Amino acid sequence: MDQRKFYYFDNNATTQVAPEVVEAMIPFLRDFWGNPSSAYQFGKQVARHVESAREKVAALINADPREVIFTSCGTESNNSAIHSALVSQPGKRHVVTTAVEHSANIKFCAYLEKRGYDITLLPVESDGSIDIHLLEKSIRPDTAIVSVMWANNETGVIFPLEEIAAICRSKGVPCHTDAVQTPGKLKIDVADLGVDYLSLSAHKLHAPKGIGMLYVKKRARYQPYIIGGGQERGRRGGTENVANIVAFGRAAELAMATLNDENTRVRAMRDRMEKTILSTIPNTVRNGSFDSRLPNTSNIAFDSVEAEAILLMLDQASICVSSGSACTTGSLDPSHVLTAMGLTPSRARGSIRFSLGVYNTNEEVDYLLKHLPPIISRLRAISSSTATMPGKESKSEAAVTK
Ligand SMILES: *Cc1c(COP(=O)(O)O)cnc(C)c1O
Repeated sequence: MDQRKFYYFDNNATTQVAPEVVEAMIPFLRDFWGNPSSAYQFGKQVARHVESAREKVAALINADPREVIFTSCGTESNNSAIHSALVSQPGKRHVVTTAVEHSANIKFCAYLEKRGYDITLLPVESDGSIDIHLLEKSIRPDTAIVSVMWANNETGVIFPLEEIAAICRSKGVPCHTDAVQTPGKLKIDVADLGVDYLSLSAHKLHAPKGIGMLYVKKRARYQPYIIGGGQERGRRGGTENVANIVAFGRAAELAMATLNDENTRVRAMRDRMEKTILSTIPNTVRNGSFDSRLPNTSNIAFDSVEAEAILLMLDQASICVSSGSACTTGSLDPSHVLTAMGLTPSRARGSIRFSLGVYNTNEEVDYLLKHLPPIISRLRAISSSTATMPGKESKSEAAVTK
């Protein structure tokens, strides 16, 4: 694998595994490989480390360790929460969610809709915010669950989760949130939030891919999604992913420790980057509200350029950014998040997400700010020269809409 210096501004897609996290997990790959469910000491000592990691992850969200279920990823956690609400309340076949959720929710809800469930996808305003009166009105007697993300992975826009959870409580409907983008960026306290279910994914907080968790509030109903052995107190079958669970625990500790850096230094770098791009590159606009936003994320539309082209040229300069979310890159459809905010398909297709992290430096931001403007000018020059050639514009349009 290529180990040249690269400039990583795609922390909402995944994050570098912290060296401290690698250190913490290695003993469980090399030496302590016993099954935590085994009756002998070689297994039992591993089980103790799983429980210690559970305490650390619980501390990150101010929960009781018994409220934490380890899963394989954020997608599984989201699917499990909605699945549980539907199977434990068979008479209720309506789900309320939003049009800007991660595909882990959007696609699962589309799957449910095909099987006869009723889904309400709440719209958003042009700045990505939600109308909570509309949310309140959408809750019906047959609503099984309300699932609303806390912070958007594409724009960083934060939803008023405490208010949303309070509405759900007043209506007696369980509330789930996809909080995958928040650790290390927002202070997470499930008691303050008042949600019943909350999803996290470890690879978004400097731990490896393939480990997530679902918080299930004490006394909230829960029906397992993965059925098998009695692991996770009967709530999630499958032998525990021990090394990754230990890694998640260590990463949870680090996320609490870096909260301040993320909200001061990272926020300042993001703001400087965004301000410079918007003020020095013409015909650019920020997507999403300025204020109610994660400290690390900036989503910018570059008019009359294809984001895919920007991405490829930045990649040649070893800069990693993304168009839309990594999970939908590869499809030529414009981002469902930006489309839901009312952007035209062409503006949505010209939008780039920059997501910074605690490993970024001001020098790296300078490098980006040096390389981006000439790339945009070059691409705009190409697109305006092809647009004036007879017959060309319809052809390039066809290439992106098929
Ligand atoms: C990355 C992400 C997910 C999916 O998590 P995985 O662990 O990759 O399945 C879900 N929701 C949001 C908001 C995300 O950013």
